Amino acid sequence: MSIIEVENLAKQYPLPDNKSETFFAVDGVSLQIEKGEIFGILGPNGAGKTTTLEMLEGLVDIDDGKAVIDGINVQTDPFKVKEMIGVQLQANEYFDNLSLVELLDLFGALYNRVINPEDLLGKVHLVEKAKAKPANLSGGQKQRFSIACALVNEPKVLFLDEPTTGLDPQAKRNLWDLVLELNDAGMTIVLTTHNMEEAESLCNRIAIMDHGKIVAQDTPQSLIMKHAPEPPEAPLHGNIEDVFLALTGHALRD
Ligand code: ADP
Repeated sequence: MSIIEVENLAKQYPLPDNKSETFFAVDGVSLQIEKGEIFGILGPNGAGKTTTLEMLEGLVDIDDGKAVIDGINVQTDPFKVKEMIGVQLQANEYFDNLSLVELLDLFGALYNRVINPEDLLGKVHLVEKAKAKPANLSGGQKQRFSIACALVNEPKVLFLDEPTTGLDPQAKRNLWDLVLELNDAGMTIVLTTHNMEEAESLCNRIAIMDHGKIVAQDTPQSLIMKHAPEPPEAPLHGNIEDVFLALTGHALRD
């Protein structure tokens, strides 16, 4: 059995300009994610990536369909699921006057776990910042710290929502390395991104999402072989950006 099984997941929200009507932000998404994979959900802003993740994380109610993580039904057993997943949100707010070590201790206490903050900071390469406050970290360091917070309960599955958005190229590479290290240690990782290069170089498999639906899912190489049109007079196929354009008919914008 796959570690994450999603069947026909759906979520409706009110239309922004007519609150009495709804639209499908997520419209029948099915996914099977295997243990040990880095799985990417790639799509433009508004495609439904975050909402899909939020339903899997138990942060948003599921309107229709089913999500099971490691054999546990997210709808009927949300607390059990929360115990074994790690969640890094797009933006995090922390108590301003606590240091990284103090914050990790606090998160540990919330999970009822005895943790070693230095070990966790070591995993995300922030040991030298142990006594710093989050406000004094760079963008990349903040993202790595929020991953450390997501690791306090030793999750089997780590969810990352657009982890590298807004990071400079070096910070982005550092974060990719961290994701690969965590994955090498056995963690299944599900991330959303609108960065083609990230999806292509980091993920074992990608689901391309547009208007609430998955339009294709496969390994980056298979998607390229199947969907990227062969450029004229060039023997090589294109890249994931060509696949995305061929399947959705539009380019991504930040
Ligand atoms: P993505 O992560 O791909 O950018 P989202 O899942 O954030 O997309 O959003 C999908 C759609 O659902 C968007 O049109 C967004 O405006 C809408 N949406 C998301 N959350 C809410 C909400 N809480 N209330 C109403 N509409 C929402």
